[in-house]
Amino acid sequence: MTEPFGFDTRAIHAGYQSDPATGDVMPPIHLSTTYQQDGIGGLRSGYEYTRGGNPTRDALQGLLAALEGGERAFAFASGLAAEDALLRALLKPGARIVMGNDVYGGTHRLVHRIHVPWGVVLETADLGDLDRVRDVIRRGETDVVWLETPSNPLMKITDIAALAEVAHAAGATVVVDNTFATPALQQPLALGADAVVHSVTKYLGGHSDVLGGAVVLPAGELAERVGFLQFATGGVAAPTDAWLTMRGIRTLGVRMERHSATAAVLAERLVGHPAVRQVLYPGLPTHPGHVIAARQMRLFGGMLSLRLAGGEPAARAFAESLRVFTLAESLGGVESLVNYPAEMTHASVRGTELEVPGDVVRLSVGLETADDLLTDVLDALEAVAGGPTS
Ligand SMILES: *Cc1c(COP(=O)(O)O)cnc(C)c1O
Repeated sequence: MTEPFGFDTRAIHAGYQSDPATGDVMPPIHLSTTYQQDGIGGLRSGYEYTRGGNPTRDALQGLLAALEGGERAFAFASGLAAEDALLRALLKPGARIVMGNDVYGGTHRLVHRIHVPWGVVLETADLGDLDRVRDVIRRGETDVVWLETPSNPLMKITDIAALAEVAHAAGATVVVDNTFATPALQQPLALGADAVVHSVTKYLGGHSDVLGGAVVLPAGELAERVGFLQFATGGVAAPTDAWLTMRGIRTLGVRMERHSATAAVLAERLVGHPAVRQVLYPGLPTHPGHVIAARQMRLFGGMLSLRLAGGEPAARAFAESLRVFTLAESLGGVESLVNYPAEMTHASVRGTELEVPGDVVRLSVGLETADDLLTDVLDALEAVAGGPTS
C-alpha cells in the first residue's frame, strides 16, 4: 500500500489487512514465541520462531517501509539496537565512517566506544559545510556518511540531496537518522539517502510509553544483511512494543502538524526576547539552514533549542523553572519536555568535539494548549532574568 495514497492514509492503513476470520481493524498482539509446523518444516505463512518473524512486528515493519518510501523495514528493541545492526551490516575493521559533529550523543558513543575499538575509523565533521564535506569524504576510503537533520540539540540543517551526491560520488553509503523530522515531514530515501534509521521511542511512538528503533531501506543486499543481523543478534522489537508503535503512528501526521505549529509560535515569540541570546529553529527565516529545510521538510517540526543570554546559570535555572514543560530526557511525546543537554542527553559527549554549550536548553514542544506553553516559557524566562523582561 504505497502509491497513489497520501501519507496519512498510509499511516492509518499500511502494514495490516484485517484478518478474514474476525474482521479486526487493528492487528492482534501475537505473543506466541513459536509456531506449529504442519509436518517438519511445514511453516504457515513462514512463521517458525518469533525472533525470526512475528506477525505484529511484520505489520509494523510493513507500515514503516510504506511511510519512508522504502521496501524493507526492520524493527528493533531500541533506536541504538537498530543503529548497531545497520552499522555492523555496513562496516568492518578498517572501514571509515564520517558522522555529523552534532549527532545524538548515544550514536557517537556507540561508534566511538564499540565500533572504533573493533577497528572502524571514525571522523566527525560539520556536514552542513559541503566544501568541508568534500575534503573529509575521500573517494574509495569512506564507507559510510551518517547524518541527522535537524540535528540534536543545535538544530543544524544538512542538505540531504547535496550531501548524498557528494557521498555517492566517493562511493559512500548515506544513512539519515530521521528521528527528529519523521517521515511525515522529511523523506530521506526520496532525497537520495541509502538507509534511514529511527528511534521510534520519540515521535513515531509519540506517547513516551514505548522504546524502539527501526532501519528502513530499499530492497537489496544491504537489506538482506540487516535482516540477517536482526535475526542472528536478536535485538528485535517485542510484539507489544511493535503494537504500541503502530498505534502511535496512526496519528503521526496530525501530531506533527500541531507540534510544528506550536513550536513555530514559541520560536517567533522568543526571537528578540532579552533573556534569549538565540532561538535555534529551522522554521525561522534567520536560521542559516532555513532555505534548505523549507525545500526538504514539509513543516519544521516540534524541536526547538534556546541559547540563554545569562549563560549556563540561566539555562539551568530556566530548565528547572518551567511548570508545564517537564524536566526529562527524550522527546517527541504528546507532553512537552525540557532538557539540559550538557548534563542530560549529551553528558556522554562532554570533552569531545560534540560537547554541547552550557547555555543551551532543548524544548520538545508537545500538544498542550499553545498559550499555556508560551506563558510557561515566558514566566520561566522572567524568573531567570530576575524580573519582567519584556
Ligand atoms: C533517542 C535517539 C536515538 C536513540 O534511540 P533509543 O530508542 O533511545 O535507543 C537515536 N537518534 C536520535 C536522534 C535520538 O533522539
